[in-house]
Amino acid sequence: MSLGRSVAAAVVGALALSSPGRAQTASLAPGALPSSARAAALVGQMTLDEKVALVTGYFPAFSPKAKAMGAIASAGFVPGIERLGIPAQRATDASLGVANAKNMRRGDTATALPSGLATAATFDPDYARLGGAMVGAEARAKGFNILLAGGVNLTRDPWAGRNFEYLGEDPVLAGQMAGAAIAGVQSNRIVSTVKHFALNAQETGRMVSNARLDPAALHESDLLAFELAIETGRPGAVMCAYNQVNGAYACENDTLINGVLKGTWGFRGWVMSDWGAVHSTKRAALAGLDQESGQELDLLFNGKVFFGDALKASVSAGDVPMARLDDMVERILIGLIDTGAMDAPAAPDAAINLGKHADIAQAVAEAGSVLLKNDDKRLPLAPTTRKILIVGGHADVGVLSGSGSSQVRSHGGTPVEIDLTEGEAAAFATKVWHASSPLRAIQKQFPDTQVNYIDGSDPELAARAARDADAVLVFATQWQTEGQDAESLSLPDGQDALIDAIASANPRAIVVLQVGGPVLMPWIDKVSAVLLAWYPGQRGGEAIAKLLAGQTNPSGRLPITFPQAAAQAPRPSPVGLDLLRRRNAARAAGDKQASIAPFAIDYVEGANVGYRWYELNRQKPLFAFGYGLSYTSFDYRNLRVVGGSSPKVRLEVHNTGAHDGADVPQVYVRATDAQGRPSWRLAGYKRVEIAAGKSARIEISLEARAFSRWREPGRQWQAPQGPIHIAVGRSAGDWVLTGQLPDLAARKPLGPPRSKSDGQAP
Ligand code: BGC
Repeated sequence: MSLGRSVAAAVVGALALSSPGRAQTASLAPGALPSSARAAALVGQMTLDEKVALVTGYFPAFSPKAKAMGAIASAGFVPGIERLGIPAQRATDASLGVANAKNMRRGDTATALPSGLATAATFDPDYARLGGAMVGAEARAKGFNILLAGGVNLTRDPWAGRNFEYLGEDPVLAGQMAGAAIAGVQSNRIVSTVKHFALNAQETGRMVSNARLDPAALHESDLLAFELAIETGRPGAVMCAYNQVNGAYACENDTLINGVLKGTWGFRGWVMSDWGAVHSTKRAALAGLDQESGQELDLLFNGKVFFGDALKASVSAGDVPMARLDDMVERILIGLIDTGAMDAPAAPDAAINLGKHADIAQAVAEAGSVLLKNDDKRLPLAPTTRKILIVGGHADVGVLSGSGSSQVRSHGGTPVEIDLTEGEAAAFATKVWHASSPLRAIQKQFPDTQVNYIDGSDPELAARAARDADAVLVFATQWQTEGQDAESLSLPDGQDALIDAIASANPRAIVVLQVGGPVLMPWIDKVSAVLLAWYPGQRGGEAIAKLLAGQTNPSGRLPITFPQAAAQAPRPSPVGLDLLRRRNAARAAGDKQASIAPFAIDYVEGANVGYRWYELNRQKPLFAFGYGLSYTSFDYRNLRVVGGSSPKVRLEVHNTGAHDGADVPQVYVRATDAQGRPSWRLAGYKRVEIAAGKSARIEISLEARAFSRWREPGRQWQAPQGPIHIAVGRSAGDWVLTGQLPDLAARKPLGPPRSKSDGQAP
């Protein structure tokens, strides 16, 4: 329950005497009361039906009723309460742009950012903030006041379908990036969520799986990412996930919601369910769920609308106390008030600067692309190159995007769009290419060069065409979507064979990868260069062309480990894939009701996600976390370590090469997990632009929770006993400088003070 109800009631009572009717609402003007008191005062004026309506959301795509009440075709809608000045909640996806999956708003386009992994690969929260602010501005201009953004689930598995939406495998990087993106979104006076709370690490069986992980390890990994994202971004809402966590569905998980989120972290906003993630009324309400989203999907998947009338009946019967319902509503109002959404109505059709927004998408694509290989300085391509052959990936017309609820239809249309005929995602996803032609952009960068394109469907033909080219650029693609995991880490559709054939014909082959996450590269030793462009967004073609031409120096770093073989990862393939296949076979044989029985996923790596797992298992990946090449070279000197309650390091970074460029020195700290296993953990990083031949002195703040232990008894962080080893490197395991931090153990508790006072966003 939020603070200040009696104060608020007194204030409202006094004001109401002098200003009847709607003026009473005006008395609750912005800033007139602390947000929790203002929220409590509003709740005090609501009927039971109004309260219940506010905590039960519609899915407009499935709901003519919601549309009749003014919903925009999108993910979410909750009608407002006009007499109290409470706006309708209009929610849209999400992090990569204002989504329009399956073209549900015919013809409505938006600026498409590159995938979340590209943003994470910038290792620079300023890019995340810029992207978030851009998407938030477009959401508001389209009439939305809630953006279902802030996806921060850690990449535990390289094949996971939604890796492209998220921010990689490291909790500090992902949490800080998500926090910056959320702050950017909310700078538009709309709400951003952070999602999916928690441990929703795979798509296979996401509605029935039970993710199991030791609570301390959970705090030191996935929960740390959420903790940092919430602390820095102060999102108005948290979206709980589909899956179970340690035996209880995430949206009725008392330990996670009441215990960690609202208790330990003091989160003041509201918890909304994912769409179709509610399984009970009383249990969910008492565990801390504040709002059922997309009730139609709960009805469809789980057989019932659990809030709405069912909640009203539970409250009337005393099963769910009225105080809990009031708390739900207060939390929603606090989220709306503190972000500004309450008092700054979203402005449909407000003008937006599309040119500027496209520039932001391109800047992120350029800064987040990662140069993985560059033998004999094959790249950048010389302006004098006579003949360039471009092969495959529909690179004549566009760049690939990831699909699912985050799907943006970008300006310029969809030059290629492929409907799915099978698979879990068929109901809500299509394969979409953004209209940004690498072929045209490369031709523009190389006006005197002959640039040709072939589609690569015939490897022999491609190899023959490749023979006399000065440069061959193979555009390889791996499409990923929400709802499905990749069944293999190999590039699909014979692309490995295509690359191999071309590289055999021409050693100057260069591969440009557009992928949703790590893929295997059996041809890596045969090609001369590899540029990883992720899904590069609506100006991806232009960004790739500038990088290849050296107009921009590649500076992205991997936020995710690329294994040499699937067997190196903690789980070589999606858990439950066998069950899914069996169910599909049963359905194909006529049993339309066949379903997947609940199954467990044991996260045996604990807090040792990603690169930490590779170190513990002495596995050398294909490309390590943090890795990325440049057209120039950097050196690090003069490490100084500053201890104290805010530990930091200082060092000099020298650009020792001939190109201007950005580098990302990374600071890793030696830590021990609950089982006593030591590993290096990223505690800080800084992206810095340095001109050729110049140097910069930089300071990098360290996040002490990265290398501290979570103590479940007492529910707090405990810093390690010092001295603590640190290393500054170019990537995980590639150290340039080493040093020691003094003992932090005696210092005050880690993390910012937990305040429940007013005047700050939740
Ligand atoms: C996804 C969420 C999304 C929601 C609304 C769900 O299927 O998991 O990320 O925000 O749909 O579209």
